Amino acid sequence: MQGHQRIYLSPPHIGQEEQQWVNRAFETNWIAPLGPNVDVFEQDIARYVGTHGALALSSGTAALHLALRLLDVGPGDSIFCSTLTFVASVNPILYQGAEPVFIDSEPATWNMSPKALARALIVANRQGKLPKAVIVVNLYGQSSDLDPIVELCDAYNVPIIEDAAESLGATYKGKGSGTIGQFGIYSFNGNKIITTSGGGMLVSDDLAALEKARFWATQARDQAVHYEHSEVGYNYRMSNVLAGIGIGQLRALPSRIEDRRAIFNKYVQELGSLEGFNFMPEASFGMSTRWLTALTVDPQRAEITAAAIIQKLSDVNIESRPVWKPMHLQPLFKNCLYIPHTESLSVSDQLFEHGLCLPSGSSLTEHEQERVISVIKSLVYGGLAHESA
Ligand SMILES: *Cc1c(COP(=O)(O)O)cnc(C)c1O
Repeated sequence: MQGHQRIYLSPPHIGQEEQQWVNRAFETNWIAPLGPNVDVFEQDIARYVGTHGALALSSGTAALHLALRLLDVGPGDSIFCSTLTFVASVNPILYQGAEPVFIDSEPATWNMSPKALARALIVANRQGKLPKAVIVVNLYGQSSDLDPIVELCDAYNVPIIEDAAESLGATYKGKGSGTIGQFGIYSFNGNKIITTSGGGMLVSDDLAALEKARFWATQARDQAVHYEHSEVGYNYRMSNVLAGIGIGQLRALPSRIEDRRAIFNKYVQELGSLEGFNFMPEASFGMSTRWLTALTVDPQRAEITAAAIIQKLSDVNIESRPVWKPMHLQPLFKNCLYIPHTESLSVSDQLFEHGLCLPSGSSLTEHEQERVISVIKSLVYGGLAHESA
């Protein structure tokens, strides 16, 4: 089995158009930062997701950082953030010297629990320490249930930043994921549903705010012939070459979503009836892109653990991963506050303990997916389950 070519979790998938846009950058000698591809990519993203504007950046992390700065987040402020996420959702809070407070997931979406958020806001309000913003993360291609979250945040006048790094192309009640909060961010890192090899986007209907972020992202150069600076800036813009990749990738996005959803459906069809296997639900409020196929495995009923499945897949050169390790369990954040779904139930702890993500790339072939499925079936049916559990 080691002879098989490695199957990756979510590798880049290059389409038909990327090369021609990259060539255009070369032909016009427009390699260096910014240029016409960047403008087109920004307009294309804004149109696709449905915001007034977009700002192309060097990463999703940079986009989050600028969103926090736009909301004037600084030392002494607290920011509520989904606990079940990748650390990039949280690091920019530390860049600004603010303090994260972690909010649990709910079982129906795996995303931010409105119940936990409500309890956190009540306590914070009582203590006179309302957060400066709430970062809502939309995991694995699915939007959070934003209506109750927006209602709560509006009641306390707290702005929302949507970390839609994993959910570009998903919808919430007909709207594009990432467009419901004051600011939304996307990532074009290599593992995401579309990629520029590395990059990100900040979106909003607030064009003045995007202009301010654009200014900070290009070293905060004041209007002058010489170099004049009155604020701290960053080197956060996307290069014109990479934007060319993004233009081509975005045009393929609808078909990438179809592919990933089909991969998810096939896993469910083949593995969904296995004892103790539960796939991430799709909430009725919208469409998930199924960026990654995620599921939990109940070790009592399946007689195998998620960790054992990950190990066995790795033994035959197939990459799979645990669900994100919640931020409240990370050494980096050991002193931060955490609010679970209910007083007695932490949903994210359970998802981390029992969850895994299967190979889900849109370029995964039928044959490759069948190999993943047959390895898992052999673990469960083959009696190996008892040994490895
Ligand atoms: C990938 C990712 C990011 C960070 O994006 P980069 O472009 O890699 O900086 C942020 N949040 C989540 C949830 C992600 O998955």
